[in-house]
Amino acid sequence: MSNFKFKKKYGQNFLQDETVTERIVASINPAKEDLIIEIGPGAGALTKKLKRYDCNVIAFEIDKEVQKYLDPLSNKKTKIIYEDFLTSDVQNRLKEVEFKDLYIIGNLPYYITTPILEKIIDLNLKPKEVVIMVQKDVADRFLAKPQSREYGYMTVLLSLHFNISKIVDVDKRAFKPIPKVDSTVIKFTHKETPDIDYSKFKEFLKDCFRFKRKTLNNNLYDYNRKDLEPILHSREHSLASRAEELNLETFIELSQTALKINGGNPE
Ligand code: SAM
Repeated sequence: MSNFKFKKKYGQNFLQDETVTERIVASINPAKEDLIIEIGPGAGALTKKLKRYDCNVIAFEIDKEVQKYLDPLSNKKTKIIYEDFLTSDVQNRLKEVEFKDLYIIGNLPYYITTPILEKIIDLNLKPKEVVIMVQKDVADRFLAKPQSREYGYMTVLLSLHFNISKIVDVDKRAFKPIPKVDSTVIKFTHKETPDIDYSKFKEFLKDCFRFKRKTLNNNLYDYNRKDLEPILHSREHSLASRAEELNLETFIELSQTALKINGGNPE
């Protein structure tokens, strides 16, 4: 790898630490008939180790210049696709393989963490587990509990679909080149979502967090707030509460009653 030119625009910080790669790969336990999607295999630090599971692997890599490292890893079960995961027709790709459960793994560029998670949710891929490396402060946000500074829109949205846990903190010196920030590997485990109108829930949630420091009374000015009050009171909140104080169940209940009233004026 000595003459490889790392590309900043693709967030190329390759893992050099054997203990960390081992920890990531060992954090999933797929069976032979399962499928692993790897996002951003780079020079194959994780891809190599995924072979031990003897299941199908599809790896999406945006940069063709790593071909010389990755192509030797490809075989009947490990397929490398040189495409941007975000624009790739992933569902079509999945039709090419038969599998039972889906696992997604990746040491991703930090700036595409959220779009990738959104794509996984929006495509309804329903992976059994997703294990990804994220910037440490992003992990803190995803793992945050209500009432904390880090708790926000994305925390709640992700907790609707997954149970989220920390695997390990990773020192920035585990990468080459060394990035500016430390990282954390986190695991998202699939959970059954309640039977709700997802797009309505998402829009309502976004509105609740519109201005983080403002109260629900302000952020929800164009909703039927009077009908939301009893729900809030039954959960020891009020319209004077902020979104960051509410848990997932409260948002779900509120969203099922919330009706947007056009032409409302902020108070
Ligand atoms: N997995 C390797 C490792 O741990 O050493 C490389 C990790 S590096 C942080 C991120 C990798 O994702 C790079 O190889 C980069 O080229 C690739 N990448 C960046 N954006 C991508 C995208 N949209 N789709 C697929 N791969 C992408």
